[in-house]
Amino acid sequence: MSQVITEPKADVVILGLGVMGGAVAAELSTAGFKVVGIEKGPYYQFADDFAPVKYDEWGIMVMRKFDHPLPMSTFTMRQNGNQFALPVRRYTPTDQVISMGHAVGGMAHHYAGDMGRYGPWAYEMASETASKYGSNFISSIEPNQDVEDWPMQYTDYEPYYVAWEQSWGVTGTNEGPLLPMSGNYPLPPHPDTAVGTAFANACEAVGYSPFPTPTALASKPYTNQYGVAVNECVYDGWCTEGCNYVCETGAKANSAFRTVPAAISSGNFTLAVNSYAYRLDTNSEGLITAARYYDSAGNIHVQPGTVFFNGLWGFNIIRSMLLSGLGDPYSPSTVTGSLGRGITEADLVGPYTIGTINIGANAYPAGNGSGGQYNIRDLADDNFDHTGLNFIGGLNTLGVGGYAGSGPGFANNYFGAAAPTSIGSAYKASWKDFYLKTAQGVTIFNYTNQLPRTDYWSDLDPHYADIYGDPLARATLDFGVNEYNTSNYVVPKMAPVLTKMGCTNVFSTPSMKPGSVHVDAFQAHTRGGARLGLNSATSVFNMWQQSWTTPNLFASGEICNTTGNNMTAGTHGSGYQSYVASEGIKKYLASPGELATSM
Ligand SMILES: Cc1cc2nc3c(=O)[nH]c(=O)nc-3n(C[C@H](O)[C@H](O)[C@H](O)COP(=O)(O)OP(=O)(O)OC[C@H]3O[C@@H](n4cnc5c(N)ncnc54)[C@H](O)[C@@H]3O)c2cc1C
Ligand code: SF4
Repeated sequence: MSQVITEPKADVVILGLGVMGGAVAAELSTAGFKVVGIEKGPYYQFADDFAPVKYDEWGIMVMRKFDHPLPMSTFTMRQNGNQFALPVRRYTPTDQVISMGHAVGGMAHHYAGDMGRYGPWAYEMASETASKYGSNFISSIEPNQDVEDWPMQYTDYEPYYVAWEQSWGVTGTNEGPLLPMSGNYPLPPHPDTAVGTAFANACEAVGYSPFPTPTALASKPYTNQYGVAVNECVYDGWCTEGCNYVCETGAKANSAFRTVPAAISSGNFTLAVNSYAYRLDTNSEGLITAARYYDSAGNIHVQPGTVFFNGLWGFNIIRSMLLSGLGDPYSPSTVTGSLGRGITEADLVGPYTIGTINIGANAYPAGNGSGGQYNIRDLADDNFDHTGLNFIGGLNTLGVGGYAGSGPGFANNYFGAAAPTSIGSAYKASWKDFYLKTAQGVTIFNYTNQLPRTDYWSDLDPHYADIYGDPLARATLDFGVNEYNTSNYVVPKMAPVLTKMGCTNVFSTPSMKPGSVHVDAFQAHTRGGARLGLNSATSVFNMWQQSWTTPNLFASGEICNTTGNNMTAGTHGSGYQSYVASEGIKKYLASPGELATSM
């Protein structure tokens, strides 16, 4: 029979021990605070749990044995407010590749480790655009736009970026000159590929400024600021295909191998794994008093605390607040409220430019998920003149020349070689060419800026529930006009670069009309919905990542990102928020109440 168990009170209770929660756990427990972490998944160790099964392509890629189990909880999706939202029930490559996290370490067990900071423009997109192109510029593109500036600017966030990058061991040099950085990333870049070098040279020849793609895959042995030692990558490519594979050396950064070990070593951290958080209790003053969770035996645990950090990721952050009666729920009919407001996905893969480059050798194409390549920022953000154009932002997360292949073979049925429609010599040749390449396709496509809109939001689904009977989160979300306009204009601009690289058959697909494709899968980079801001009427959290309505609640993650800028990978674009939140929590513990909202 299940019991109700009340745990000892903690200074800080962390919900979710993924990327964000792990950073807060390390920062606060090493500072001497008593911290409890509640995580619904297990704590895997790379040597014991990942290394022995790394060849289990069926189990990992298809059966998704390290992923979040969707029967436990999922969420529902629809493209507009008139549709009946349906639950995501299966991981089905190539559409629903992305999984939610389900372990200490979170989603980052599955990522490719692509990194890169936001630039200054991302933080002041609304005001910069208004001052340069007129106050109606964004509304002329997207009449329902709901774009706001972040509460702090790039220079304010820079020290937090640095702390975050040290903990993670980010590789790279410097993203300058279009991104001011106070120093280099802590680890050197991975070795260039021939295609990466060709891309960098071609970019320089046309006047762009390439830099090695920053990654979260250790290029050297490394010890971070908490004393956690990290192995270097062995370039076996197991974080590449479909980027769902776990890392068997710990070289791929996630909190399980970077920050949570520091929290455990501090002696101030208690970790509850296989524990599903479902409510936050409040008192008459509107403060949270305890988190409730189910353990794997069905017992209910009540975990009291002084401060609570919500690191449950994405829609789960919004949902947990709605289920607990916290925050000010957004209403799209009156355009009032903030919780659930402004979600974006920004993963439109529309038009592309493609070419083929001869790499001249039958080399085994191993590598890792995001090293070896180069990026540019020249066609991103407002780094080019938008006068007379019908979009803001530009060509984002652009990296060319990544390692050509990887260890896993099974997934190539989805992602690589030709479909087996004509089994025979041509099909066999396609496999040989896939593994022993002499030529490589180079494709430029665009992850754009999706603008927050008043008719896209997240709330509780009235029809579907999780395994415990609580309503699921629902997303009402589709692509907007800005994404199409950006891709149509910017992607063909890369054709001369491909030609300069020596590519043959360079080709840009025709423009796409807005509405040609729809959001039909959830992505890793859902942003907005629990936004940071200076206005308590339209944002959920203030500049210290503190809830406007519940002062002892803090959060971080992409869902807190104020704008739908997809300039960079998600973790880099939000990990530093955990360092801002940690500082905010320390301030709160020293003097409880709403924190000053200016620096
Ligand atoms: C295939 C894939 C590729 C990606 N590629 C990249 C990339 O190249 N670069 C990049 O920067 N980002 C990438 N991402 C995204 C990146 O992994 C996420 O941005 C990041 O992990 C989010 O961190 P988080 O702490 O917000 O959430 P998570 O890391 O997912 O952590 C949330 C934690 O909360 C736990 N949790 C959820 N609900 C409950 C509950 N009710 N009770 C208790 N615990 C709960 C989860 O189990 C999880 O451990 C990728 C993601 C995927 C899946
Ligand atoms: S290629 Fe490197 S980072 Fe990727 S899984 Fe292998 S050891 Fe880990």
